Amino acid sequence: MTTVSPGKVIKTDCILCVWGCGINAYVEDGKLVKVEGMTEHPLSQGVLCPRGEHLVDYIYSPDRLKYPMKKRNGDWERISWDEALDTIASKLQQIKDKFGAHALAIFCGSIGVENLELAAFARRFRGAYGTPNFLSVESNCFRSRILAHQLTFGTFLLEEPEKAKCTILWGHDPDNSKLPLASKIYKALDEGLQLIVINPKRTPLAKRGIHIQIRPGTDCALALGMLNVIISEGLYDKEFIDKYTVGFDKLKEHVKQYPPEKIEEITWVPASDIRRIARIYATAESASIVPGICSLDQHINGLQNGRALSILQVVTGNIDVPGGWAAVPFPRLGSLHIKVDEDPIGVAEHPLFYRLWGRTSPYGQTMYFADTVLTEKPYPIKALIVTGGNPVLSLPDSNKMKQALEKLDFLVVIDLFMTETAEMADIVLPACSFMERSGIGYVYGVTSGLPYILLRKRVIEPLWECWPDWKFWCELGRKMDYGDLFPWKTDEEVVKHWLKPSGLTIEQLTEQNPEGVFFTEKKYDMRQKGEFKTPSGKIEIYSETLAEHGYDPLPVPIEPSQSPVSSPELAQEYPLILTTGPRILEYTHTQFRNVPQLRQSAPEPIAEIHPATATKYGIADGDTIAVETRNGQIKIKVRTTEDMAPQVVSIPHGWAQANVNVLTELEPRDPVTGYTELKALLCRIKKVI
Ligand code: SF4
Repeated sequence: MTTVSPGKVIKTDCILCVWGCGINAYVEDGKLVKVEGMTEHPLSQGVLCPRGEHLVDYIYSPDRLKYPMKKRNGDWERISWDEALDTIASKLQQIKDKFGAHALAIFCGSIGVENLELAAFARRFRGAYGTPNFLSVESNCFRSRILAHQLTFGTFLLEEPEKAKCTILWGHDPDNSKLPLASKIYKALDEGLQLIVINPKRTPLAKRGIHIQIRPGTDCALALGMLNVIISEGLYDKEFIDKYTVGFDKLKEHVKQYPPEKIEEITWVPASDIRRIARIYATAESASIVPGICSLDQHINGLQNGRALSILQVVTGNIDVPGGWAAVPFPRLGSLHIKVDEDPIGVAEHPLFYRLWGRTSPYGQTMYFADTVLTEKPYPIKALIVTGGNPVLSLPDSNKMKQALEKLDFLVVIDLFMTETAEMADIVLPACSFMERSGIGYVYGVTSGLPYILLRKRVIEPLWECWPDWKFWCELGRKMDYGDLFPWKTDEEVVKHWLKPSGLTIEQLTEQNPEGVFFTEKKYDMRQKGEFKTPSGKIEIYSETLAEHGYDPLPVPIEPSQSPVSSPELAQEYPLILTTGPRILEYTHTQFRNVPQLRQSAPEPIAEIHPATATKYGIADGDTIAVETRNGQIKIKVRTTEDMAPQVVSIPHGWAQANVNVLTELEPRDPVTGYTELKALLCRIKKVI
């Protein structure tokens, strides 16, 4: 299936982030020389962000890991793949014999979402070895939203903002996080879209719509205020509610407690604005709320935020209709699943997050990893394999994560670059980029509502001694005598395995449709089929399942644990609100700082504050400030902007020299999901002289 051919244009997709924009890759003499946006691609339609534009520089970066290495007396020493695999296999066997299989954890970074080759093969190895502890960023990212939808609709639904007459971008800044969506919204605005943007920052798109400058961490309250208006003014869809839902009467009573005047005090949003946006949203012919990827989830009531937004869509009848939230069919792909009976860490604390109505999540609760390693409770975890992730920077409470990694007996990292996590490893392994192996581009359903699939083609041969992740897991499996579970030897065999149940073939996705295909039509027939896979068979506005587990069956606003309301004494010491993780278009989380062209346009981490906040603390634009929480301190350059809400300090994640996760904490957690608070903490700032 090698597609290297001189002067040829190869149609594939970019997965430097989860969106998977279509690209035309130009190859000369076996070298990738250029990429450009693929106009036929239904999501990106030819658009590429700066990361995609600089793909060639990334692939051929001199900083790439080029061969396996092991640490000896603090220095890296080049070793062969054979030695690396022998060492890993023998160490893992020793650990299993002494502490049991659960003493190994495997962590998969966010790129495992769009790369079956990373996540699914890592999980297969987990099953073969017998550990339940497959961990990923999904313990703090996106799965909360999926669970909120499952609890409400029985399945995950996706918004259709480009078809809607009214779109609410709620904590979402697609100009800096999802360029393909931003392009579509700008086009829709020209065609009459009514846009509402709820965000503490006036984002570029907020300047084109109604901007609601909310206090971070109060989204659930705002949603309940909107529900109060919609229900009290009779703006709800009675027919839809009567036919397809349960629990509306209880909701009707519940939201009486949240009149706009009360919500104004909580959210900083004027009551008149709450009424205004509720009316616009509820009376639009079709409407979609588009939440940011994690902005509503990383709170102690993140799950309830997801439920509140789902209920807004339900009462306005914007479910299973074009322009609302709709189900998306997924391709049937080959499975690599091997069952492990033992539950992973974190299940006792958050049972619903792991198991809902007999369905189990693929992941354990990563937020319990550091504590489990450090306390050895409920049992010792002694080894970790990290694939495509950098938990030292990306997970909350970096200092605790570092302590946990230091305590491990054995740490292996497979990656393209020497990350902050790889620096701490015993063995690092060089991974191929997605241009050096084949795969399936299949996440368009869950990320963009498109029943679309393409073959991610191997554009160039693997560079240096880099291996595709699937090969690492298969070869390690063979070394550990699990060879019968890892029969795959080539990219082609792997891709054939994925495609087999789908009815699609490699030939179809290379010769007939190299740009990809819609494997089915998107339908809006959940209501007609009566397909709500909840216990009641209806959309559950009121969730008996949540009630049975001791959680709120209807969304209730909960103050962030650190706020002037919930912790006034702490607020005396730390008077400002810290929100973390705004996106930067040049980077995906912790990646690409070493691509010079990207670094040139976004050279350093920047905290954003309002000029009035700056003046209050004697700070000027461009100064370096110290930002301190009760967990730690970092130094970072400041930008003053009137776009930011006063009293808010916004700091991006992913920077080693100003690692915002030094400031964040693992406690408290959302009781349902275990997610930690990253979007509304308390901090103080001062100018660094
Ligand atoms: Fe690649 Fe950028 Fe598209 Fe993400 S948004 S897939 S990084 S081009």
